[in-house]
Amino acid sequence: MIRVAVAGAAGRMGQAVCAAVGAAEDLALCGQADPALGTGVEEVLDGAEVLVDFTAPDVAAANVGAALDAGVHVVLGTTGYDPAALEAKARDARGRANLFVAPNFAIGAVLMMRFAAEAARHLPAGEIVELHHDQKRDAPSGTAARTAELMAQASGRPAPPIHSVRLPGLVAHQEVILGGEGQTLTIRHDSLARESFMPGVLLAVRRVGELERSPTVGLEALLFDT
Ligand code: NAP
Repeated sequence: MIRVAVAGAAGRMGQAVCAAVGAAEDLALCGQADPALGTGVEEVLDGAEVLVDFTAPDVAAANVGAALDAGVHVVLGTTGYDPAALEAKARDARGRANLFVAPNFAIGAVLMMRFAAEAARHLPAGEIVELHHDQKRDAPSGTAARTAELMAQASGRPAPPIHSVRLPGLVAHQEVILGGEGQTLTIRHDSLARESFMPGVLLAVRRVGELERSPTVGLEALLFDT
């Protein structure tokens, strides 16, 4: 049994994570931190082996620091934070606790990013349109920023432009449109429900304790050999 605490437990993602952890036979939900529940992260770390954080960009780094300092591995899903601050915290904690970070835990979205990087090698231009529900606090999305980074690495060109749409009714969607002479290629992924993220979150919870690198960034590191 891996003992799991959740930060942001009363939020949209946090509630789905608590349900998924509670339903998994090899995982035990041992703590739930959220202002709405009256519990802070420090209170749920005692006895936890892994902290899953889906909170907000301004608090995620402090939560990650508190967990790593307490020797608790972290699976971080919150987006929009400063990656440099997390890198330093993960480095300091190496050997005691690991940090796993993914801008998108949906396996289809990870495939979309991989296909977009491959396509960027062969077509001369591309743009990213990311669409999310109107409560999302950061823009562009972490997924779009990561896609742009992967496309830039793969093509050797500057990162492609990102367009952000925020509307009620949306969950999390992204299109990568690539253009060449007389043709376009559109790669699209839709997360239609938050459950789409749960297999990836649970995979990370099960694997975070045995990572060779910390921080490890991106679900692709757990899914593919290269
Ligand atoms: P949300 O509904 O606003 O939930 C966040 C929750 O965290 C809220 O209940 C919030 O409480 C709580 N919180 C704030 N400060 C906290 C603290 N210090 N300790 C513990 N809990 C705290 O947001 P969401 O839609 O679930 O999204 C959460 C994050 O996950 C966002 O950054 C989003 O972009 C990201 N996300 C990532 C993925 C992925 O696959 N990586 C997928 C979807 C979303 P208050 O409302 O009282 O502040």
